[in-house]
Amino acid sequence: MKLLEGKTALITGASRGIGKAIAEKFASEGANLILTDLFYDDNARALVEELSATGVKVKMYASDASKFDQAQAVVEEAAKEFGQIHILVNNAGITRDTLLMRMTEDQWDMVINVNLKSVFNLTKAVQSLMLKQRYGSIINMSSVVGVSGNAGQANYSASKAGIVGFTKSVARELGSRNIRCNAIAPGFILTEMTDKLPEDVRKEWAEKIPLKRGGTPDEVAKVALFLASDLSSYVSGQVIQVCGAMLT
Ligand code: NAP
Repeated sequence: MKLLEGKTALITGASRGIGKAIAEKFASEGANLILTDLFYDDNARALVEELSATGVKVKMYASDASKFDQAQAVVEEAAKEFGQIHILVNNAGITRDTLLMRMTEDQWDMVINVNLKSVFNLTKAVQSLMLKQRYGSIINMSSVVGVSGNAGQANYSASKAGIVGFTKSVARELGSRNIRCNAIAPGFILTEMTDKLPEDVRKEWAEKIPLKRGGTPDEVAKVALFLASDLSSYVSGQVIQVCGAMLT
């Protein structure tokens, strides 16, 4: 039996990068998938086709995770279609890097809303379903810079640190209903988000990592699979770093 057979997972920001890798991993383990992203574009369409071919049920919704009402609406609609939601992966995230001196209010608000408020929005939206089921695994995508901080990323680091506090609180609050909540803190993962960095900066980062390379989205997805499945049935309130020992 596959690890996620009979389970339904909702993944935000799923059309590329880490979210896409998690969708592929979950599908390969038999999960039905509710995917969201800002737009239902060609990328998203191709992914839905690819995943549906594996035999699982997949639906992609265009939904802005930073908007409370859209999060409520998408969960309501998906619940009608899928019945239950067992796993929530709060993955959607953005960067607007700059030194604090130059950071605008808009750059602060955007990053906090997309990275942190979205986690509140979706968790609130699935909470009552999970409570009724007395089952749930919530996985929030933080970052090592949420633990260490990073110059030029005050907004991003604050959002990712906020996710850690939220994760631990939810784990304490909902644990008695068999709902687990954990965070993953990736280090330097090779996706479009890190592609934006200049080549020399990427090389410098890789050099500083004890494993001497950036991680792949699939390496993050494997940890998400562990947290989503009953392999981690007694793991809750934790932050698992996936960073090649970049931060110890
Ligand atoms: P990515 O390649 O930039 O993908 C992010 C995805 O989120 C995209 O599909 C994007 O949609 C979607 N998204 C953005 N804003 C959204 C919103 N408001 N509502 C719904 N979806 C939205 O990023 P990634 O590298 O895969 O990162 C995934 C997560 O891991 C993020 O939370 C990120 O902070 C975290 N992380 C990444 C790294 C890394 O090194 N890559 C390290 C630590 C943590 P569009 O395609 O429409 O833009």
